[in-house]
Amino acid sequence: MYILLMGPPGAGKGTQAERLVEAYHIPHISTGDMFRAAVKQGTELGKEAKRYMDAGQLVPDAVTIGIVKDGLSKPECKQGFLLDGFPRTSEQAVALDATLAELGIALTRVVNIVVPDSELVARVTGRRICKACGATYHVSFNASKVDGICDKCGGTLYQRDDDREETVMKRLEVYHSQTKPLIDYYKTQGLYTEIDGLQAIDKVFDDITASLRSNV
Ligand code: ADP
Ligand code: ADP
Ligand code: ZN
Repeated sequence: MYILLMGPPGAGKGTQAERLVEAYHIPHISTGDMFRAAVKQGTELGKEAKRYMDAGQLVPDAVTIGIVKDGLSKPECKQGFLLDGFPRTSEQAVALDATLAELGIALTRVVNIVVPDSELVARVTGRRICKACGATYHVSFNASKVDGICDKCGGTLYQRDDDREETVMKRLEVYHSQTKPLIDYYKTQGLYTEIDGLQAIDKVFDDITASLRSNV
């Protein structure tokens, strides 16, 4: 199963990815997670990426395409993967096609989680993440049992630096101008499914798995 998960910031990609990789036993390739790991480690890549992330802008294509290519070329991705948050520009989409062609892989499905902007700001500003295991929560829509503590591992929850309201507005602008046009690109390839991301988390998951069953 080679899945591409798309959607605006806050649509629920990370939340659904957590469940999908468990259900299908495939690696989760998230460019956002990769950049955050690099920032945490203080690498050169992390330092460069942080400047763009904090400004709500996209990390340059050359850097981003390089790390995804490395990720997808690993042996554990041969049997499947879930790509989350990539591609976000048409250059990245073209580069992904070339990489997949080199690897002899064809995407199984492109899943786009659709949520209107008006809902996204509340989702992103209320998002909390576990420092230890990366699990995603929301202060009101998907709260942990104990405030500030991860249900799964007991880790501390934190708010991402780029999840403040000003940055979210910028990220939505970037999504509409640079990423949303990719929908047409994937529609023409016939692999595209739209999922109503306003539904409850479990229902969104059911709709995604149903769409995956329809063509495997
Ligand atoms: P993305 O990875 O697309 O940016 P996340 O999965 O991190 O999105 O979700 C953004 C926020 O919205 C998180 O706080 C998450 O708990 C919450 N969330 C995710 N899916 C839903 C949903 N279906 N309904 C309500 N809140 C949701
Ligand atoms: P969200 O799902 O909330 O949009 P991500 O975790 O996917 O957040 O991404 C966080 C930030 O990391 C983005 O705002 C951007 O700066 C950077 N980033 C992630 N993926 C890409 C990508 N494919 N191209 C360029 N920048 C990216
Ligand atoms: Zn945790």
